[in-house]
Amino acid sequence: MRYLIISDIHSNLVAFEAVLADAGSFDKVWCLGDMVGYGPDPNECVERLQDLPHVCVIGNHDWAALGKLDLENFNPEARKACLWTRDQLWPSNLGYLAALPESLVEEGFTLVHGSPRHPIWEYIVSPSIARANFECFDTRFCLVGHTHVPIIYRHHPDNPHRAYDTLIPSLDARLVLGEDRLIINPGSVGQPRDGDPRASYAILDSDELTLEYRRIPYPIEVTQARMVKRGLPLRLIIRLGYGW
Ligand code: ZN
Repeated sequence: MRYLIISDIHSNLVAFEAVLADAGSFDKVWCLGDMVGYGPDPNECVERLQDLPHVCVIGNHDWAALGKLDLENFNPEARKACLWTRDQLWPSNLGYLAALPESLVEEGFTLVHGSPRHPIWEYIVSPSIARANFECFDTRFCLVGHTHVPIIYRHHPDNPHRAYDTLIPSLDARLVLGEDRLIINPGSVGQPRDGDPRASYAILDSDELTLEYRRIPYPIEVTQARMVKRGLPLRLIIRLGYGW
């Protein structure tokens, strides 16, 4: 089976459509949450995903849109975008988000938004946090989003000096997933934060056990113009151009 692995679309329909056009054929989408928040097209993104064969876990911005999170933890711009999103979402789409699980296991992969230890909130931003999280899932592989940065953490059980290292995914090679346990982040479709503004995603071939990372340009200015029209915060509009 060929899986399209995506995360953190954040209501950026233009980026989402660019990913779907670039991905070619796939059997199913695995979406790691944060469908909404920040961007201009929350309903369209949720509807578009529902058109596709897919599974999806819930993210912190999806929770926030449902009124399940205290917005005190959000910065002012994120809070403003969240309240706008909450206002925009149609009841059917709120119902879709409300039914999403916090974690899933598919074909030997654990899927969560943040981390297996704290699926909604925890950011895996260092090998030490990854190390603790390798204890918190039973499958060989775990897929996470949330940080908006493509990265892989590897578990080396037999070599204590290289116990957990990180890999920056190569864009021009298929990674063969071997025996090591991995925590894999495909990066963000709709708001990358690693200094590269192109949409980030991955393709998994579960028969060959290979993973391919991809970055693709999309017309950022179209998303930005929609955000201006919707009155979304300027900082959120500008950051898309920098990939930050
Ligand atoms: Zn996010």
